[in-house]
This record gives sequence, C-alpha cells and structure tokens, in this order.
Amino acid sequence: MSPIWHPFTQHALFPAMRPIASAQGAWLTDAQGQRVFDAISSWWVVTHGHCHPHIVQAIRDQAGRLDQVIFAGHTHAPAERFAEKLLARLPDALTRLFFSDSGSTAVEVAIKMALGHFRHRGEGRHRIVVLANGYHGDTVGTMSAGERGVFTQPYDRLLYAVDRIPFPAPGQEQATLDALERFARNPETAALLLEPLVLGAGGMLFYSPGVLAQMAALCARHGVLLIADEVMTGWGRTGRFLACDHAGVVPDILCLSKGITGGHLPLAATLCREEIYQSHFSTDRRRTFFHSSSYTANPIACAAALANLELWETEPVQDRIDAIAAAQAEGLARLAAHPKLSGARQSGTILAAEIGGPGHYMTESGPALLRFFAERNLLIRPLGNTVYLLPPYCSTRAELSACHDAMLEAADVLG
Ligand code: PLP
Repeated sequence: MSPIWHPFTQHALFPAMRPIASAQGAWLTDAQGQRVFDAISSWWVVTHGHCHPHIVQAIRDQAGRLDQVIFAGHTHAPAERFAEKLLARLPDALTRLFFSDSGSTAVEVAIKMALGHFRHRGEGRHRIVVLANGYHGDTVGTMSAGERGVFTQPYDRLLYAVDRIPFPAPGQEQATLDALERFARNPETAALLLEPLVLGAGGMLFYSPGVLAQMAALCARHGVLLIADEVMTGWGRTGRFLACDHAGVVPDILCLSKGITGGHLPLAATLCREEIYQSHFSTDRRRTFFHSSSYTANPIACAAALANLELWETEPVQDRIDAIAAAQAEGLARLAAHPKLSGARQSGTILAAEIGGPGHYMTESGPALLRFFAERNLLIRPLGNTVYLLPPYCSTRAELSACHDAMLEAADVLG
C-alpha cells in the first residue's frame, strides 16, 4: 500500500489511484497504456497541451545551465526576460511583479501587499472584502478569504474575519453593489479580492463583465484596492487573455499562476501598480516586503514561463481558444436541451452544467459521477453535481463533442 496521502481525495472511498505514465497534448496515458482525455487540463493548468516540445526544450536547456539560486539579492535571465515580456502584455498600470510558486501563494502575496501598502502609508485599512462562494486556495490565509464550509470547518478558529458580499448572480447584481458600497465606505476596508467573471471551485459560477466593471469603479471611488485572482481565469480560459479584459478593468493587484508555465511547472506571479511598490520602497528596512519561499522564481520554472509566453507570440493561441469556445457553444446548445441538466453555461473555453438539481459540492451523486467519467477514460472531475469542461487549447472539436456526449449520458444515467 502506498504511503502517499493525496489531495482532495477521500481514500476510504477511492482507495486506488490511477497511475499515469505519460502525457501528450490533451491526453494522458496510464500505466496499462490506456489513454485518458484530460478535459480539465489537469486541475486547470495545461493550456497549449501536455509536454509541449517548445516548453520541454526550454526546461531541458535551463536545467543544465542554472537549476536554482536564492532570489533575495540575486536575479537571472529567465526571470528578467519573463517579467519584461509579461509586463509588455499587461496594462501599463501594472509595473511590478513578485514571484511565488502556487495560486495560493500568489493570493497570499496580494493580500500582504495590500495591507503592507496601507500600513506603510499610515492608513488603518486592513479589512478584506470578498465574494460569497469564492475560492482562493487552501492555505490558512486564502481559506479565510474563501467560502466557509465543509472544506474549512475543522480550521475555522484559525481563520481571520473578512467581509462577504453576495455573489452577483445575473439579475441580482444590485444587492452585490449595495453591499460593496457599504463596506467600501468603511475606512478600515483595504481591498476587494475576487475571481473575475468565473468562480471556479465555488461551482463554476459566472457573472457579467458589466458588474465587474461597476465593482472596480466603486473600489476606485472609495480608495479600496481591487485584487483580481486570475489564477484560474487567466491565460485565455474565458476567451480573452485575462477575464478582466472583458470588462476593461485594470486591477490594482493581479494574481497569476496555473497556465503561467503552460501547466508544465509550478510558478506564480503577483503584479501590482507602482504606488503599492513605492509604499514599500524605503531606506527604512522595516518597510521591506517580508515574503519569500525557497524556490521563489526558480530558473527552470521561469524558463518554462518564458517559453509559454513565446508560444503566445508564435502560435495561433487565440485562434485555438476561439475554436474551443465555438465547439463548447455547440455543446452548450445540446446540454441546454436535456431535461436532467440545468444551468448550462459557458464562459469562453469553459462549459458547465448541473446534473439532477441545483449545484452542491457534497451531493450524493458526486462519487458516482467521478467514477462514471473515469470508467469512460475521461478526466472530468465534477464539483459535486456540477460537471464542467475546461480543456487544453489543443483539444479538437471531436474530442469535445465526445465529452458533451458523456455529460448527456451521465445526465441520463445519474440525473
Ligand atoms: N485562486 C483560484 C481562483 C483558484 O482556482 C485556485 C486553485 O484552483 C487557487 C487560487 C489556488 O491555487 P493553487 O492550487 O495553485 O494553490
């Protein structure tokens, strides 16, 4: 028996892990040689496809040149070149980049940047406003900001208080804006932290670019920082490079990870406006941004990230994203017509629907759905009874159509 304890895995219900031997494009191959279609991009990280030759080559080259170096007081070409290229792609207002190594740490860094900013300016702003149903990671700080529930209950006494505003479900946006206005008027409010347009782990809940723009304007009016957690939505998932792009919103702090290396290695970046950096910039050492992890800006991960950005320049990535979105739109029409599927919805490359009633993570049918797709060699991992596809951009129309078929069949059998 393996000694390994797996993430988000109830070993009493799922004792056997599927051993995966290799991967290419949108497909995994298990130890028995069975191919599995990776319809969720291996937890939303793979963008161009597994083992993309350009990224693999960059990793090989970098591993033989400089594997790792402390990033305090040191720098290296892969980090510098990646930062320069990424900043050139992002709105001019984002001028500074801090590296870390996961989505959770990107958000932790963002929260610390926001609070440090106000502290160093002598302002008493320290409260964080968040959206109901949000998810920002599993560290204690990000659990505090995320929705409380079965994921967080055992640790509730450790979590810090945040101010929650309702999810801006279509038609209910005003309640969200009113609640935000109330909190934004509080002189203790530092930042609004949100996932733009799509709340991923919270159940693939979508809201409109219009209300995102209104929330951003409201924050700006009251001097509250907007932190956009684009850990999942970034790198094209919603059809544009950033979800914020749909709303013409430039956040004060932006969190990126997952697709940052095309899904090949762990890395994250938290970007911010100049004034946030400047409030830490001082000969007073107490204003140092006291944050690091051992592998901050690991050169091999940075080389993979740089190669990923090169692919965005040299390959028709946006065309592929548009093709995925078109194929998902065909799926959407089919799902919407099924009587046992509800809430069928699409945001760019992401397609989601509930099987057999309103979405609920701890629904009875969750484990059966997981098995249903695994038996069909589809890596589709429902959030309770919310089934979604979030595929790599190299997926074909036929592959996605087969996933739509499987969702319809699952609704027939388990709905
Ligand atoms: N933020 C969002 C929006 C996410 O979807 C996730 C992970 O799914 C995270 C943060 C945490 O990222 P990680 O699992 O890399 O720590």
